Amino acid sequence: MEFNKCPQCGSFFSNEGKTCPNCAQKDNTKIQKLENYLQNNFVPDTLEELSVNTGIPTKDLSRFINESKEFSNLNGIISHL
Ligand SMILES: [Zn+2]
Repeated sequence: MEFNKCPQCGSFFSNEGKTCPNCAQKDNTKIQKLENYLQNNFVPDTLEELSVNTGIPTKDLSRFINESKEFSNLNGIISHL
């Protein structure tokens, strides 16, 4: 069996995916929060503002934006970093 090392928490896991099931679940919660926010609000000018408004750390936000096409329209605010 092949194990992958989770880039988020460093633990090993055997299922498919980039992160371990624990972190994947945490990511899903954050992504839902972000989706929900974007449905009801304008995209702020900066990643920091988006972070404050959603409660999601900027490093997670930039990861989601880089990894998910769904949030590719947010790429502009990353350029402020
Ligand atoms: Zn993990």
